[in-house]
Amino acid sequence: MSTLLEIFKTMEYGPAPESPSAVNAWLDEHNRKFGLFINNEWVMPKGAKYFASHNPSNEELLAETVQAGQKEVDAAVAAARGAFESWNKTPGVVRARYLYAIARNVQKHHRLLAVLESMDNGKPIRESRDIDVPLLARHFYYYAGWAQLMETELRDYQSVGVVGQIIPWNFPLLMLGWKIAPAIAMGNTVVLKPAEFTPLTALLFTEICQGILPPGVVNIITGDGRTGAALVSAEVDKIAFTGSTEVGRILRRQTAGSGKKLSLELGGKSPFVVFEDADLDGAVEGVVDAIWFNQGQVCCAGSRLIVQENVAAKFIHKLKARMEHMRVGDPLDKAIDMGAIVDQSQWETVDQWVKTGVSEGAELFQPDIKLPEKGLFYRPTLLTGLDPAAAAVQEEIFGPVLVSLTFRTPTEAVELANNTRYGLAASVWSDNINLALDAASKIKAGSVWVNCTNQFDAASGFGGYRESGFGREGGKEGLFEYLRPKWMERPRPDFTPPAEGTKTTWGEHVPARPPMPSTQRANGSDKPRVDRTPKMYIGGKQVRPDGNYTLTVLDSGGEVIGQVGDGNRKDIRDAVEAAHAAHLSKPGWAMRHGYNRSQILYFIAENLDARNAEFVERIVEMTGRTRKSAQAEVDAAVERLFTYAAWADKYGGEVQETTLRGLTVAVNEPMGVVGIACPDEYPLLGFISLMAPAIARGNTVVMIPSQKHPLSATDFYQVLDTSDVPGGVVNIVTGDREHLVKTLVQHEDVDSIWYFGSAKGSYHVEYESAANMKRTWVGYGLPRDWMSREQGEGHEFLHEATQVKNIWVPTGE
Ligand code: NAP
Ligand code: MG
Repeated sequence: MSTLLEIFKTMEYGPAPESPSAVNAWLDEHNRKFGLFINNEWVMPKGAKYFASHNPSNEELLAETVQAGQKEVDAAVAAARGAFESWNKTPGVVRARYLYAIARNVQKHHRLLAVLESMDNGKPIRESRDIDVPLLARHFYYYAGWAQLMETELRDYQSVGVVGQIIPWNFPLLMLGWKIAPAIAMGNTVVLKPAEFTPLTALLFTEICQGILPPGVVNIITGDGRTGAALVSAEVDKIAFTGSTEVGRILRRQTAGSGKKLSLELGGKSPFVVFEDADLDGAVEGVVDAIWFNQGQVCCAGSRLIVQENVAAKFIHKLKARMEHMRVGDPLDKAIDMGAIVDQSQWETVDQWVKTGVSEGAELFQPDIKLPEKGLFYRPTLLTGLDPAAAAVQEEIFGPVLVSLTFRTPTEAVELANNTRYGLAASVWSDNINLALDAASKIKAGSVWVNCTNQFDAASGFGGYRESGFGREGGKEGLFEYLRPKWMERPRPDFTPPAEGTKTTWGEHVPARPPMPSTQRANGSDKPRVDRTPKMYIGGKQVRPDGNYTLTVLDSGGEVIGQVGDGNRKDIRDAVEAAHAAHLSKPGWAMRHGYNRSQILYFIAENLDARNAEFVERIVEMTGRTRKSAQAEVDAAVERLFTYAAWADKYGGEVQETTLRGLTVAVNEPMGVVGIACPDEYPLLGFISLMAPAIARGNTVVMIPSQKHPLSATDFYQVLDTSDVPGGVVNIVTGDREHLVKTLVQHEDVDSIWYFGSAKGSYHVEYESAANMKRTWVGYGLPRDWMSREQGEGHEFLHEATQVKNIWVPTGE
């Protein structure tokens, strides 16, 4: 006779399927054929091609949707443009009501949305019902709040305009919410393209919008990557993209130099770090959630397990035992853990990766569990014993495949965690709060979950470091993707990018031969002037240019007033190396207190002011401007240093009010090494206005001063020398701005580029930055009033100087 316990242990779960009938009825109402949603109407373009969307769990056809071409995309963009003016003028408090109504209706249609999501995508109903749809509603509530507060809390900002949004198939509704809610809350209108595998819930969502929003505010167009590309080249003011790093790169290049704003949420290979003192059983459950949630098709999936060596065997043993109990099957069954892979092609890619891992020497583990006979199911998979450099460890697999590595010391754990070109998320497990938070602060990722994983909420920003993209979605910081400073018009650069496929040419620099000396006499003196060629400033030292060439500096009348070093690639590389070392070396610039950085900025201001008259003379000499105007520039530069001395200890971040019980802290971390090309206007103030916010927030910089008027910058290193600025924090390389920037953009150790040169140069910077997805900030050759506080300082600068990391720390039982 079996005991009750045995019966309980051997008892099979019965299926508990959710009914698809309401969804089928809705699909039938539309004859399983959908048009495009433009201006609150269904548009069935004449002669359109259709493509099918399937249910990956049984491969049945669900419905057909339109493959939109450029003409349809343009029509949708025109609809959004038509709606923009009045939507933008609609008071925020009124827009709040619209968003609130959408949130309410998402809740009313919760079940229909969830079931359709599971049918179209293959994800377990438990997830779509308990996570995707509730978060969708949550985003509309949250951003209804920001619409309500916009006029008082964001009064220095305005909407961006018409936004094109492109989303992937892994969280069709959630990604739609992340994109649409903040955009329309801030007064923009949108055209969104869902992924071709999963267009249906976006179309169901439009029926909610139809009854609520004015026509043209939200438009949904379907199609594949070509439709996406057409949207990117259409007359939009911004592109917001979530998807692969590969396509993100294409979009960066396609929008380069156009003045369209761009945010990219890209791929990842996120570490899941388990220290020896972690609650191992809790961590095993964490792994299950990290890598088998949504079949591992999660951008921030904890796909690289990094476990301390002395507990690794035990941990892997527990994990394998847990995997034997995973239930893979019908997504509509409420009791399953894993549903189906979205598409056959994706299934094959995943399988190919597993084979690659095995060929790279991995030991493969897949539990002996039953899979349904039909449908795109894949076993939860673990690959152990791989080298950290193996492709299966480095590349995003985007499926239910976990790779596992081991480490000995906490330092090694952080090194392994950061040994990736991505930086989207990380999960850290330890019962030692010091250790866990120390690792969390050192891992380069946009979200770090301590003793938890895959936490999301509208009140917290989400987005990547490095090749995981730039820009944030969610939280207050997510708003800035959909806002522009009030004074700034949509940049319309005076430069036409070369046709696609044309090789970009960024002029090679040929060093000019400097003029031979002529006997210059100092004013009224009969002795020759002391010859002085300012050097470059690298690692806190004055150094001669590597190439031993100089550039001649002329005054406004064309007379030679000096020479500066003509920097080359080597000089830039040296400067980057110095900046990199200063950023990291103990205690690195980033690790200093804001108080300490603020003291140094005050000291710089003090020393600059002490030499006020000399800097005024220099500006007059170089630019031919009046003494009064030069004086105003120097005074403004001193004041600006004061501004950032102030900001040095007041922009650390904030506690986010998420749904987590515990703390979610948004930390404004420095970007790292920032390469800065200065404008020609205001040779001193332009330089200071860019250097000061960057170093105030803990970055180290490589400054390329105005090429025309470099002498204020070269005079300035003497100020730096006397102001306790550690060597390498500010490096100055003079020379041909375009040529030097090119080397900076291509440098792997430069984290961000700020460029205030020409429209053409801006194009090149944006284009070339795609190689490793550097964040860029360019001026498109458009004027900026550096003298004004509105345009020359403040939040825009601080925002560019930082990247947000959200650290989630649950508390209590
Ligand atoms: P994908 O291939 O990059 O596609 C994303 C979207 O871009 C789809 O709508 C796609 O259209 C469209 N697209 C493809 N080529 C395009 C082009 N040349 N121009 C414009 N649009 C184009 O990515 P996926 O395979 O769908 O999604 C998986 C990726 O998304 C993973 O890398 C994952 O990490 C990432 N992801 C990131 C986040 C995040 O927040 N960071 C969130 C979720 C997913 P079709 O697919 O319809 O053809
Ligand atoms: Mg589908």
